[in-house]
Amino acid sequence: MAGKLTMDALKAAAAAGEIDTVIVAQVDMQGRLMGKRFHVDFFLDSAFEETHSCNYLLATDMEMYTVEGYRATSWAAGYGDYTMRPDLSTLRRVPWLEGTALVIADVLDHHTHGEVAHSPRALLKKQIARLEAMGMRAMMASELEFFLFRDSFEQAQAKGWRGLERISAYNEDYHIFQTTKEEAVMRAIRNGLNGADIPVENSKGEADAGQEEINVRYADALTMADRHAIIKNACKEIAWQNGHAVSFMAKWDDRAAGSSSHIHQSLWSLDGKPLFHDPQAEHGMSQTMRHYMAGLLAHAAEITYFLAPHINSYKRFAAGTFAPTKAIWSMDNRTAGYRVCGADTKAVRVECRVGGADLTPHLAFAALIAAGIAGIENGLPLEPAFVGDAYHGTDVREIPRTLRDATAALDGSKMLREAFGDAVIDHYVHAARWEQQEYDRHVTDWEVKRGFERA
Ligand code: ADP
Repeated sequence: MAGKLTMDALKAAAAAGEIDTVIVAQVDMQGRLMGKRFHVDFFLDSAFEETHSCNYLLATDMEMYTVEGYRATSWAAGYGDYTMRPDLSTLRRVPWLEGTALVIADVLDHHTHGEVAHSPRALLKKQIARLEAMGMRAMMASELEFFLFRDSFEQAQAKGWRGLERISAYNEDYHIFQTTKEEAVMRAIRNGLNGADIPVENSKGEADAGQEEINVRYADALTMADRHAIIKNACKEIAWQNGHAVSFMAKWDDRAAGSSSHIHQSLWSLDGKPLFHDPQAEHGMSQTMRHYMAGLLAHAAEITYFLAPHINSYKRFAAGTFAPTKAIWSMDNRTAGYRVCGADTKAVRVECRVGGADLTPHLAFAALIAAGIAGIENGLPLEPAFVGDAYHGTDVREIPRTLRDATAALDGSKMLREAFGDAVIDHYVHAARWEQQEYDRHVTDWEVKRGFERA
């Protein structure tokens, strides 16, 4: 695949003067790349083995605030270091940044050199290992939606993120002409990603003015999660280079569509056989697939936090908007939280439609896999498929509609506590409560506009 680099290839590229910079990045709780830029000589000399970061990086909020009350780190403990260990299998070129390569790092305890349990990448690796012990591998694809603006990030900031102009004037779902006008950004994104070991399938206009979707080829869960984090960063960087802003907020404006991150999932044997497919079974869905999906449904409320981690994520869950509000499954039905795609083919898979574009892929994938494993281990039976319009169907399982409800479900999840460990769940419950608490104490524009004069 274009863009993948071995250490030897990096050495050669450095010697030829093609690469002078290597970004070493870890993935934080918000799914962002956090790290440092190395001169390639120093990276090749020593930083390829390890470097360091402050351990507040897995305990801050969106705004990098030093949130108190985490057991893992604090002022009292002195906010020491993590060890960042580059995973050299993720080394790649970054074609849209001159002379630059990127590598994703694992986050290790500075003293024990064990992986930090609440690091998103470590959490996903743990669930992948559980599956592997069962002779299975998860293949995932996350689709990403976002909004593209005529304004630059700097202009948007100067305007206080109000009165922004979207790149298009109308709903551009599948529109070729409108998206032709956006090719300066979108073509650069597709080609940039493709040259960075991220095989792009397509981009398309989405169901609102200025909304875009990018689809990449499915891959094993860890590869896909890393790619997802890189894609978001790439879209921001490439849009910025072209004088535009993008936003991956789940709902950046209440009059606009929400942006989601649908997650396609299937299980394969370690020697590459599709375990979700059984040609003899109804819809070609194997018993393993049925149990996996039953696990997703049974634990849908508990895993919602990892699909919708912010206050804003819940503003996306509105009926009649293609954002699902019900934890049910159905055949190729876009109103359901879980949709079966590729029925009766080897590519039969389940698409989770619950998550917003603001989710952290490693955490979301880990939670989905843990729920699926619980379904398989307990041989959970799958209820009949839902038929019809799930928004208006009654008596079906609701997805928690608020962060408060999702946090309570997370806190009380025996399944997730067993899969991730108590300390990890407590860490994320603390993050969720902080997010809620911050929102609760802030006075919003909406309140002021409504009440300033009339209250
Ligand atoms: P749709 O447009 O109906 O959502 P697509 O055919 O565009 O579906 O595929 C969506 C995503 O599903 C793509 O990223 C593709 O790589 C991925 N995908 C295809 N087959 C599988 C599979 N067996 N497991 C997981 N993901 C898959």
